[in-house]
Parts: sequence; structure tokens; C-alpha cells
Amino acid sequence: MSRLWSSVTDIKGIGEEKAQDLKGLGIYTVHDLLFYFPSRYEDYTIKDLAEVEDGDRVTIRGTLYGEPTVRFYGRNKSRMMVRLVVDQVVVTAIWFNQHFLKPKLTPGKEIQITGKWERQRLQMTVSETKVSPQQAKEQESSGPKIEPVYPVSASITIKQMRKYIAQALKQYQNEIIEILPSSIVQKHEFMDRAAALAAIHFPRSTQDGKLARKRLAFEELFFYQLKMQAYQMVQKQNQKGLALSVPLEQVRQFVWSLPYKLTQAQKRVLKEILDDLQSPYAMNRLLQGDVGSGKTVVAAVALFAAVKTGFQGALMVPTEILAEQHKSSLTELLSGHGIQVALLTGSLSAKQRREVVGGLQMGTIDVVVGTHALIQEDVYFSRLGLVITDEQHRFGVEQRKVLREKGLHPNVLFMTATPIPRTLAISVFGDMDVSTIDELPAGRKPIETYWVKEEMFERVLAFVGKELKAGRQAYVICPLIEESEKLDVQNALEVHAILTEYFKGEFSVGLMHGRLSPREKDEVMKAFSENQVQVLVSTTVVEVGVNVPNATVMVVYDAERFGLAQLHQLRGRVGRGSEQSYCILVADPKTEVGKERMRIMKETNDGFEVARRDLQLRGPGDFFGTKQSGLPEFRLADLTQDFEQLELARQEAVELLRAPDFWRNPQYSGLQGYLENQGILEMEILD
Ligand code: ADP
Ligand code: MG
Repeated sequence: MSRLWSSVTDIKGIGEEKAQDLKGLGIYTVHDLLFYFPSRYEDYTIKDLAEVEDGDRVTIRGTLYGEPTVRFYGRNKSRMMVRLVVDQVVVTAIWFNQHFLKPKLTPGKEIQITGKWERQRLQMTVSETKVSPQQAKEQESSGPKIEPVYPVSASITIKQMRKYIAQALKQYQNEIIEILPSSIVQKHEFMDRAAALAAIHFPRSTQDGKLARKRLAFEELFFYQLKMQAYQMVQKQNQKGLALSVPLEQVRQFVWSLPYKLTQAQKRVLKEILDDLQSPYAMNRLLQGDVGSGKTVVAAVALFAAVKTGFQGALMVPTEILAEQHKSSLTELLSGHGIQVALLTGSLSAKQRREVVGGLQMGTIDVVVGTHALIQEDVYFSRLGLVITDEQHRFGVEQRKVLREKGLHPNVLFMTATPIPRTLAISVFGDMDVSTIDELPAGRKPIETYWVKEEMFERVLAFVGKELKAGRQAYVICPLIEESEKLDVQNALEVHAILTEYFKGEFSVGLMHGRLSPREKDEVMKAFSENQVQVLVSTTVVEVGVNVPNATVMVVYDAERFGLAQLHQLRGRVGRGSEQSYCILVADPKTEVGKERMRIMKETNDGFEVARRDLQLRGPGDFFGTKQSGLPEFRLADLTQDFEQLELARQEAVELLRAPDFWRNPQYSGLQGYLENQGILEMEILD
């Protein structure tokens, strides 16, 4: 066993007492200490002021210009100011409560100071001062310029920590063996492990530190992925799913009978789904695809395949409108093939409900589309084999589980139009396979997106009018239904009144909001989809799923009140036909982040790109909301910046686990030892 696992007391200079203090920080072994990473660095490298960002901590050197002035206030409180010349620029240095330095600050003297830089005022608030230029220069030539700062406790200082770690590195340098397969290290040109560990604690330059971090973050992500992949392997081995024998020829004919050719991406994910259906373990798959990428038809083919194999299928959606729309599109696609499709929602009459529930239990209904009503206790299936959920992020984990348990290990497909960068999807939903439709059906024109200020409303209306005259339709979305002066939000009722007046005698304006009964909503939606109503003013209830190809304009009011994912979803309501479509965001965001969101919408039409940038803007915690923060935590790696590393790590982990000679090839011996030591993988999993 490696000596790295021995107690910190083996390190010169650490006695029993200090070892006790270190335990308080979770540090027991030499290994723990070496992997106790700095939270940040002090950088004493002299910087060119032109390159320093506002608010950065920086070290500069200059010549004092004039006498310091000191102001006292209160007991021992002072503010001292002096000018100095740095590279021919006069800057101001300010010290708080350090007036005792004044005698040393004589004009013409060279000093080195470290502190926070205010770019606008050319001013530094000083936290560290070196008054002897000799001292400063010596430091420059010999000592480290970048020093690590560790999170420490009251009983251990940062300086001690630096000393212990430096000593540990010195003493155990030869014990730090490479554990990543050499092929991976070479391929990605990673620093070797010992060098990376030394450099993350004591980097010789910023670049050196970055490379060390990159290597060690990869290592962390790689072990994480190795674990996830291994779990998935085990899960698949243990599950007793239904192995369907799918009549592929019939499926092929069904696909040919569709009114359009499937895109390559649709074909690819279909193959993945059909392979899952035929394998002996239960499918557990996430299907991501941008709005309008054609997930419904993929679901339809999957349902067709399941039914023709002799099973029932269920499609679960978050809203009644969507349930109804899916019900009618599935009926259109499937009923000609002898497949019975039914709807089960909360607004069925007791009698209708009894019929559907009975049909499911008897097996006379092949496919059911529904809302939460589907997972109520009195709903039984005679032979449920496939469950699909649309917009799954709206279902809690629990609900998904209940649905899964309704059949004997049914295959489950989760569809979502809220794309998560693939890598993240895999790590968040580690137990799921991920299929991605990354292509829109041919002939779609990219939606043109504009961001306008509130005062442009008239012009927006004129533009909408032009499209209406050309025979098109428009959505106008408002964030809230109720008047709220405080929040200053646009009121759907008010906007509806204004638009009705504006288009009077020409076009009809419909209104949709959360207060309407499902029946009323359905009527409004129907009128819009049949073009009896040309403009639909709505709160976000139209957000998901509905399909009106003749609508070419999406106006979003107070767009800054919506999240990026939501805005992208809304935009996806248009651009579904062959005409050019437009998305107009009316917004006066006050914050930088708000403005950035509008810019992102303008710049990209790609939902995955929107999601990626949203994630960067907000960080993964916010992105998924607190509820779903099942995100793993890493010591060094950071999902917002290490996306690519995560994906690389996954690919490498998959490849490694597939390597038949994993346990025999000597290049993996370091890794094996490490895995066993950490208890990350049990031998038999990989055998
Ligand atoms: P989403 O992925 O957002 O659920 P839909 O399934 O509603 O997308 O599909 C959007 C529109 O694209 C529908 O009108 C559908 O009929 C159409 N569509 C789907 N696949 C294709 C295809 N391969 N070629 C042409 N149109 C398609
Ligand atoms: Mg859809």
C-alpha cells in the first residue's frame, strides 16, 4: 500500500497536536493533505496596470511622489494617502489604519504594494506593503510570486499549511504515482500527476496553475464518470425488463407511411429506442430535442412498435391542452393502423373516465394520453410496456417512479424540449441513457429574433399588422394575468383590450390565461388553430407543445421576466411552418444579466446553445432550481466551466470500462490500486 495513506504525523514538522488540528479540517493522511487544494492564490507578480481588471487584487511597484497625508478619525483609525509613479502613471495608494508606516514612506523611495485596484480612479487600497526595494527585489528573484491560500481553522495558519504541504510534497514526491492510463495522459497532454499536485499548490505562473488544475479536475471527473458508468452497467445487469420482440418490418412500413421523411437525427434516436425495447433490460432514456425538432412523431413510432409487439403504451404530459393535442395527433397517426388511442385527463366526466379506466384494465385501449390523472391509484393497465413523458422536467421524480411502477418494469422514455447540455444530462441523470435530436426538419427558416424597448410598442403592432394582412397569425405573451402596480407588469387583459381596439374591424384577438376553465382554454386554442382568431394574447399557458404552423410572430411582453429556457420555448411556438417567423422581445432589463439574456436570444436559435449560455450565466444550481439540485459536487471541477472536460472524462471512462484487458494491462495498474483504495469500484463489477 502506498505510503501516501499513512498518517500526517509521518510528515516532518507535524506532531500529534497539529495532527489533531488537521483532523478538524478533514485531513488525516498524507494523501488528504496533498489533496487539500488552495481556495485561491495571492499573486505577487508585478502586473502591467493596463491589463488589470477593476477590483482585482494586484501587486505593483512604483516610486513615491510627495509626502503621505494622514487623516485620523476615532481612536487608532486613520486613512493615509500617497501618490506614486508606476510606469509613468501617477496612481494613488490608500492605507487604512497603518499610519505607523508613514516615516518609511519618504518621497523618491521605491515601494511594492499589494491590494485592490480601482481602475477608474487609478487607485489602490493597500493590504500589503514592502518598503525596501531590496527586499522586494530579492523576493522577486528567489521566493514564490504566487502563493496558495487555504481555507484554515483558528488553530492552523495559512503559513503553516503552506509549510506542511511543501514538506509533504518534498517528502513524498516519489510516492505520487500516475494513476491515469498513460494513453489518456498523452492524448490530452496532461501534466503528470506529481507535477500537477506540486503546481496546484505552488504554481510558478498563472498558466502553470491552470494546467495543474485542468489535469486534476479531469482526474476528478474521470473517477466520477467511471463510477457512474459502472453503476449503469450493474443496473442493466440486474434489471429484469421486458424483452420485446418488435416486428421491425411493420415499424418500417409505418415510418414510410408518414407524411414526411424522418430526419437523420429522428432515425438515429428511433433506432436507439427500438434497440432498448428489444433488449432484456428496461429502457430508461432521456430524449432531448429542441422545440419543433419532431419528438412527437418519434414517440408515435415508439408507441406503434410497443403496441404491435403486444403491449400498451402511455404518454404523459403536464397540461390538458397538450394532452388533447397529442391525443389528436396520435389518433391521426395511429388509428389507421388499428390502434385504439384514448385520453385520460382530470376534466373527463365520471362516465367517460370509467370507460377509459375500464378499457385500460381490459386491454381494449392500446395507447392512453393523459395528465397526472394517469397515475392515480385506480388506474390499472392490462399490459403496460412503454411509458413516455413529454416535458418531463415538470414531473417530479416521485411521479416518474409511480408511473414506472404501474407496469412490470415498463420501458420509460422521458422527452424534454428543455435541453440540457448532453454532458450535464448524463451526469445529472446518471442512470439514464440520453438520446438527442440535434437537427430540425428540412425547410425550416431560422426564426429572426429582435429585442426592442417598451416605447417601440406601436411599431411592433404595426409589424404584427403587416404579418396578419399577409394571412399569418401572432402570439402576444404577457407574464401575469392580475394587475399589479407594484410589479409594473403588463396585464394580459389590458393588452388584449389594446390589441382588440387596434385591430378592430380587421382581425380578431383571442385571450388565454390560467383563470379559464380547461374547456374555455380548449375553445380559445381551437379558434386560434383554425384561424378564426388571428392574434392570441396569452399568459404562458401556451408555453408547451401546441402546434399552430400558420403563426409567424411571437411577441413577448416584459421579456425580462422570463427565464431563458422559457423564452426559447415560447419562441418555438412559431417557425413551425414554411414561412419566415419572428420573435420580438419587448423588454427593458435593468440588470447586466437581464440584458445578456436578451442578447443571447438574439444571437442564437439553438436551444442547446441557449441552455449552455444560460448555465454559464446562472450556474448549475440555479439552472436546475433547488429542488432538482441532484448535481454532484466536486472539489476542484466546476460544471459551469468544465463541461468539455466532463464529456471527455465520460468518453474516456466508457472506453476504459470496455477495454477487455483492463485488469491485465500494466498501464492501468496505478489506476486499479487507486480505485481499490478509494473503494470506488469493486473488482467484480468490472470482471
Ligand atoms: P417537438 O419536438 O417540439 O415536440 P413536434 O413533434 O411538435 O416538435 O413537431 C413539430 C412539427 O414538425 C410538427 O408539425 C410535425 O408534424 C413536424 N415534423 C416532425 N418531424 C418532421 C419531419 N421529419 N419532416 C417534416 N416535418 C416534421
Ligand atoms: Mg412536443
